[in-house]
Amino acid sequence: MTARIIDGKAHAAALRAQLKVDASELVGRGVRPGLAVVIVGDDPASRTYVRNKVRACEEAGVVSKIHEFPVDAPEAAVMTRVRELNLAPDIDAVLVQLPLPPHIDEARVLAAVASEKDVDGFSVSNAGALLTGAPQFVPCTPAGIMYLLEKENIRIAGRHAVVIGRSNIVGKPMALLLLQKDATVTICHSRTPDLAIHTCMADILIAAVGRMNFVGAAMVKPGACVVDVGTNRGPDGKLRGDVDFNAVMDVAGSITPVPGGVGPMTVAMLVANTLHAAGQRKQESK
Ligand code: NAP
Repeated sequence: MTARIIDGKAHAAALRAQLKVDASELVGRGVRPGLAVVIVGDDPASRTYVRNKVRACEEAGVVSKIHEFPVDAPEAAVMTRVRELNLAPDIDAVLVQLPLPPHIDEARVLAAVASEKDVDGFSVSNAGALLTGAPQFVPCTPAGIMYLLEKENIRIAGRHAVVIGRSNIVGKPMALLLLQKDATVTICHSRTPDLAIHTCMADILIAAVGRMNFVGAAMVKPGACVVDVGTNRGPDGKLRGDVDFNAVMDVAGSITPVPGGVGPMTVAMLVANTLHAAGQRKQESK
């Protein structure tokens, strides 16, 4: 079997073209969507992610501004800026780029983002709303994966989905979204013994671990849909996923590549969430 490759780049491009139209409609109605990105420190990967997000938002007509802090910035300074952005009338979306330096309490900063501007969906209120079924914003990466599954006609209801990883930004929200669509969901993590026993039962396997080539062919059920969230740098400096792509291609039914799979969808979903936030501003000001 040779798996069908799910082209996240193409799906993201099509979505972004539609979002550009949506954004121009908002502008026509007097709302210019605004995004603020807060970044602390000079981690090169974080800077690349921020650049990509800002570029995508600007292409769609979102006014975007980066708020940079040095790596040793006190938590209070970052919190103050987040609170100012919460109140800024021209800003619809506030995004705090992770990771933050160790001296800053990530949970406290994320909790400070106003829920109506929390386009990453990481605040406690949005996470809780996702748990209870009616979130304002769904975290971009799992939302992008759900979008891909739907567009690729991957049936979810009644099937067994296995998520490797339980982070608040990928694994947990991913599992909740699959559950909401009536999958039977297993969540695996670093303390899961005999991981392959679980993964081999997956009709849909989501790998969000952060370890290159972690998922091999022997861990995949024949015909499964394999979604690779991992972004790892190979020894050659190139981007690689968590899945041994070439080996798993022979077993899976469909598979997302890295690069060109989940990553572009994450960015497109950020644009979608930002426009959603701006649309709500329009509603409120009516
Ligand atoms: P994370 O917070 O480090 O979480 C990794 C998860 O993997 C943890 O739950 C961990 O378990 C689990 N894990 C680690 N070793 C394992 C093992 N041997 N067996 C089973 N589970 C294991 O990472 P994350 O933020 O969720 O991100 C995961 C990956 O996705 C990273 O490569 C990240 O760069 C990438 N990512 C990509 C995008 C994108 O847009 N493409 C977006 C976000 C993240 P414990 O909880 O037990 O430690």
